[in-house]
Amino acid sequence: MNQFQYVRATKQQAAIEAVAKDANAKFIAGGTNLVDLMKRGIMTPQKIVDINRLPLAKIEHQANGLLIGALALNSAVADHQLVRERQPLLALALNAGASAQLRNMATVGGNMLQRTRCSYFYDLAMPCNKREPGTGCGALEGVNRMHAIFGASDKCIAVHPSDMSVALVALDATVLVSGPQGDRRIAFADLHRLPGDTPEKDTNLAPGELITAVEVPDGPFTKHVHYQKVRERASYAFALVSAAAALDLDGTTIKAARLAMGGVAHKPWRLTAAEQFLVGKPATEETFRQAATVAMQGAKAFKYNAYKLRLAPNTLVQALKTATAA
Ligand code: SF4
Repeated sequence: MNQFQYVRATKQQAAIEAVAKDANAKFIAGGTNLVDLMKRGIMTPQKIVDINRLPLAKIEHQANGLLIGALALNSAVADHQLVRERQPLLALALNAGASAQLRNMATVGGNMLQRTRCSYFYDLAMPCNKREPGTGCGALEGVNRMHAIFGASDKCIAVHPSDMSVALVALDATVLVSGPQGDRRIAFADLHRLPGDTPEKDTNLAPGELITAVEVPDGPFTKHVHYQKVRERASYAFALVSAAAALDLDGTTIKAARLAMGGVAHKPWRLTAAEQFLVGKPATEETFRQAATVAMQGAKAFKYNAYKLRLAPNTLVQALKTATAA
């Protein structure tokens, strides 16, 4: 591992200033991704600013909905009564992620900002535009069975690995950010980026900006929800494809729907056209299959991930069926 300076921050503004004025500085909280990347030499910050002492771990209900601090642990959020009662989809997605040990270390902010698990990104012997801009993409012509079917570019076809983020984008969450220019709010759908020509940028955060919390608005999605994750072993594996489904039902008629998929794009993939298609329709498998067809418009596979063109709609249909029956 490269040598680096360790700074423990006790004041939020000091932490932000320490990272904002040093292009080689990074925030660290749970460290469940960053430390791995540093050990492998994939990320080599000269300075890490430990934010674990900042008071950013609260979970509470406010006028706008649930407010979850960026330092709340994944396990604490998933187990919290307010989350289980008001946003059960979020609890399901969190519990589908990683392992119990990792959920006890990983924070909400860090979960959002974890980096892709593309194997070429982790292999220093291979070209990777995300790790080293301009070197090429090893996955484009390589073994790309884990890779994107939506929103990819000829520079990068990686997917975002977070389960939690799939639920948050479906639930219209908002990210609260503090930075050198002050505070701002970012719609969760706008936090992560598609790769375009700059795949080295995972998010739209400005240098030095710190995620302080996420706000999840109250809604009717407290009962008919499901997070369906398809992976190669029962736990501690990233999604091949996942689907978050939340329905508001009037009898068997769909009043409103919130849908998103994971494992399919460089960002958590919201399915707004399929949501609109479902409104007013009966909650039947036939309806769900039609919605899945809508959801898959624009999908494009690479050499080894064509199976996702069938797996993704089937996963969405299963999520909707299970949510209906919940
Ligand atoms: Fe790197 Fe993206 Fe290509 Fe993977 S898909 S090798 S992360 S540029």
